[in-house]
Amino acid sequence: MAKKYEGPAIGIDLGTTYSCVAVWQEQNNRAEIIHNEQGNKTTPSFVAFTDSQRLIGDAAKNQAASNPVNTIFDAKRLIGRKYSDSVIQNDLQLWPFKVVSGIDDNPVIVVNFRNEEKCYVAEEISSMILMKMKEIADKFLESKVKDAVITVPAYFNDSQRKATKDAGAIAGLNVIRIINEPTAAALAYGLQKRANCVEERNIFVFDLGGGTFDVSLLTIKNNEFDVRATAGDTHLGGEDFDNRMVNHFVKEFKRKHNKDISGNSKALRRLRTACERAKRTLSFDSETSIDIDAIFEGIDLCSSITRAKFEQLNMNLFEKCMETVESCLTDAKIDKKNVDDVVLVGGSSRIPKVMQLLQEFFNGKELCLSINPDEAVAYGAAVQAALLSDGIKSVPNLVLRDVIPLSLGIMVKGDVMSVLIPRNSTIPVKKKQVYHTCEDDQPGVSIDVYEGERMVASENNLLGVFVLKVPLAPRGLPVTVCFSIDADGILNVSAEEESSGNKKDITITKENGRLSTEEIMRMIEEAEKFKAEDIKFMKKVKAMNVLEDYLYNMRKVMKDVTSMLSLTDKMKINAAMVKGKMLIEDKMDRETFVFVDFLKELESIFESALKKINKAYSDDESDSD
Ligand code: ADP
Ligand code: MG
Repeated sequence: MAKKYEGPAIGIDLGTTYSCVAVWQEQNNRAEIIHNEQGNKTTPSFVAFTDSQRLIGDAAKNQAASNPVNTIFDAKRLIGRKYSDSVIQNDLQLWPFKVVSGIDDNPVIVVNFRNEEKCYVAEEISSMILMKMKEIADKFLESKVKDAVITVPAYFNDSQRKATKDAGAIAGLNVIRIINEPTAAALAYGLQKRANCVEERNIFVFDLGGGTFDVSLLTIKNNEFDVRATAGDTHLGGEDFDNRMVNHFVKEFKRKHNKDISGNSKALRRLRTACERAKRTLSFDSETSIDIDAIFEGIDLCSSITRAKFEQLNMNLFEKCMETVESCLTDAKIDKKNVDDVVLVGGSSRIPKVMQLLQEFFNGKELCLSINPDEAVAYGAAVQAALLSDGIKSVPNLVLRDVIPLSLGIMVKGDVMSVLIPRNSTIPVKKKQVYHTCEDDQPGVSIDVYEGERMVASENNLLGVFVLKVPLAPRGLPVTVCFSIDADGILNVSAEEESSGNKKDITITKENGRLSTEEIMRMIEEAEKFKAEDIKFMKKVKAMNVLEDYLYNMRKVMKDVTSMLSLTDKMKINAAMVKGKMLIEDKMDRETFVFVDFLKELESIFESALKKINKAYSDDESDSD
């Protein structure tokens, strides 16, 4: 593989609920998970907007309960999807923030930021999280990071992958590769636990996170990682388990108090936070309590939940996970008896019932719990980043062969899906196929590109349409269609008519959840503006703090010197102090220079008054000599 990128390149696990960043450390021969400024190895994928600033990560999550409508999470659930998508419609019911339908049915998030209504697409929110992860890495590495490998759920489709890449571009990152999360986890596992394994091993990765569920079967041999099959659900994870619990308590509250809290976003946010905590507790305790003071109209929510109840509420979701496990093995054509290691990844893989069902499925096999389920994906991404970077010697020379999750093809006569690249084909891959016109003197051929497993093309996901002009001829004129998928799993389609020498390469033009170059450019500009605004905001806060400190010290000094000041100076100083206090406290949006200039004015008033006292004092001294 040609090495192209000058290090350090980072690996980012852009999770639905938590994100994580890692980098290969040449001196330690391993990837390092980087702590954020709070000392945490994972950062909440939250962005919040307030009257004065934008917050990302822990700071955003911590204020979620007091600002629910402007605190955005779950952007990954929206990315690359249409507003009318039924999964989005379901999520909408539970999100406290506003999502509306924008151009081309793309979902748009609406927030109130600095007292103005602002609209963002999911890519922009994700880019803010990516920017935060980049900043964490910048600080750790003491340099500006440019290149990154970003992970996506294996089951992400073409639009979702492209949208994730766009988010990286908006964040100012050069996305050198998009890799699948379970594959990244397998890299981490293989490297940490099965280094140099010479015998072929079948590794099954089970990644159940906050918002997505992925499974993959890989074979590892001599540092070669071959993904055999992958399956999953881009909309199943810990948040769904939280939702079930939230609904349970909403119903219980209604029963007990005859009050419906479901329309109150603040109450729901508090309940959701409590439920998530309870769920984690239930992973090691058999029962836990939930206590929320004055959740609704002054009434407290005091209740408890057992692990058994939690399991009952989610049983069909857990079972759904096991069905996916089964279908992945079927696709890989591997009997479960021949699976050597079952690797658990993702926070929700800690749920005891999930572990139990999985262990039962594999006939009682011990599960591998030795890698950190929160960090493995970022670790693997950092390994991949190092492999793609120039000058890194300590990373083992791994070979990674991933697959595409969904079949790709075009619609042919009668709404039939003609598959060019079947699912679970190893990427990168290129396939050509010759099709023929169906009518005499057909002026053009429409190439409708679809993704999915249905035989009826229109039941699959339409990725794009384009028309190739062809010379007038009797039916049966051959047209060659070429599909190529790059190492990121992103598709390019072209068509060609040879008889006319028409050798025009055509790629998909119809937008499908994909942002146009202009839109991305606009968002990059806006992201930079944001950064500039953040810096401006920090400067202002600093200027306000300096002013406040000065006023505070002034007040202390004034206590001692008031009696020595002339009436005019006293009035001048008091008026200035009142004005200073007002500038800091009235929350008007002022420019930084207002505080800086006022501080200068204040200093000059105060110091000239003090000078007079000093002078009077030294005059007295000299008098008494
Ligand atoms: P993602 O990659 O989708 O962001 P993560 O792998 O970080 O998700 O997992 C986050 C999810 O794991 C959250 O829903 C969280 O509530 C859940 N989780 C974390 N720890 C536990 C635990 N001990 N028991 C149950 N669920 C947990
Ligand atoms: Mg994850």
